[in-house]
Amino acid sequence: MEQLKEKVAAEQKGLKPLLSMEYHELEAWLKEEGEPAFRAKQIFEWVYQKRVERFEDMTNLSKALREKLASHFSLRVLSEIVMQESTDGTMKFLYELPDGYSIETVLMNHEYGNSVCVTTQVGCRLGCTFCASTLGGLKRNLTAGEIVAQVLEVQRRLDEKGERVDSVVIMGIGEPFDNYDELMPFLRLINHDQALNIGARHITVSTSGVVPRIYEFADEKTQINFAVSLHAPTTEIRSRLMPVNRAWPLEKLMDSIRYYQEKTNRRITFEYGLFGGVNDQVEHAHQLADLIHGLKCHVNLIPVNDVPERDYVRTSRDDIFAFEKTLKDRGVNVTIRREQGHDIDAACGQLRAKERSEETE
Ligand code: SAH
Repeated sequence: MEQLKEKVAAEQKGLKPLLSMEYHELEAWLKEEGEPAFRAKQIFEWVYQKRVERFEDMTNLSKALREKLASHFSLRVLSEIVMQESTDGTMKFLYELPDGYSIETVLMNHEYGNSVCVTTQVGCRLGCTFCASTLGGLKRNLTAGEIVAQVLEVQRRLDEKGERVDSVVIMGIGEPFDNYDELMPFLRLINHDQALNIGARHITVSTSGVVPRIYEFADEKTQINFAVSLHAPTTEIRSRLMPVNRAWPLEKLMDSIRYYQEKTNRRITFEYGLFGGVNDQVEHAHQLADLIHGLKCHVNLIPVNDVPERDYVRTSRDDIFAFEKTLKDRGVNVTIRREQGHDIDAACGQLRAKERSEETE
């Protein structure tokens, strides 16, 4: 409660989240305030390494500077509403934002480390017909700092066990490329060696196919992993599943993906949800193999999660394996996504959707 009041007060005073400030921006701000640039390093160290939550705890800064920081910036932007832990160790956090909206963040534990799945928007406006995140439409974009804060909050949890966040996937609620201007500073911040120092190759951005931003992202030439939610082998099927395909049809999407690969030479991941009777037959697997032929890529098959509000059915085990085998026989790199957090509403938007419906009951 106290924490929340503090945040609301900060919001009302028009404070900027410090976590939205990139290193060079903080340096520039300090310079304007007549402070030496190396204070940026000290501040980043307090925020990202020592992970203090109050400016007054930054004891190697002068009292005057700490006060100045506190009158310009807020340091806390999230408060935890609930945490659910799955029997497989997956943890799902529901956080409240200063304006009362809530967002989800998931921590998964793989053999290769701790992976955090972050949210980029409150809701989503893309309307994918199988996805719970989009049910209430888009409320607002998150700021870079609000996305950074999710990683930092989870890191604080891991501090209790002496562990660290090893990788970050931008696969939570929202379309990251619909919030590109906040996404990019977020990515640079978590990657920055004075901040969380998460290697670009340990970060994955997933898009539903916002084509103009794919070109832009390609031109950034980062080492960040790139995933596309493809979900269909033909434009007709894709339009049925994903309205975004009407704005940027499959052919245009594939052009942008080829451009991305030419520019970066990086392998692409295609996410392909198997929706019973829609896109999950052997003929679809052949169409998919044709579509992605010549690309350096990997296909991640996701057997659909049942979303109570949507009536897609799960593909049978036999059909899942037949689909996988067809792709393998055609020389495609393919895996079936391991499911985690089944018992804790861990699929996109499910916890938030549940919380929202409980609010309105
Ligand atoms: N908007 C981005 C980021 C979300 S990533 C994107 O679309 O890529 C979340 C992934 O889970 C996406 O591939 C999304 O299509 C998929 N997804 C959403 N709802 C699902 C469901 N009910 N079953 C299986 N996958 C789902």
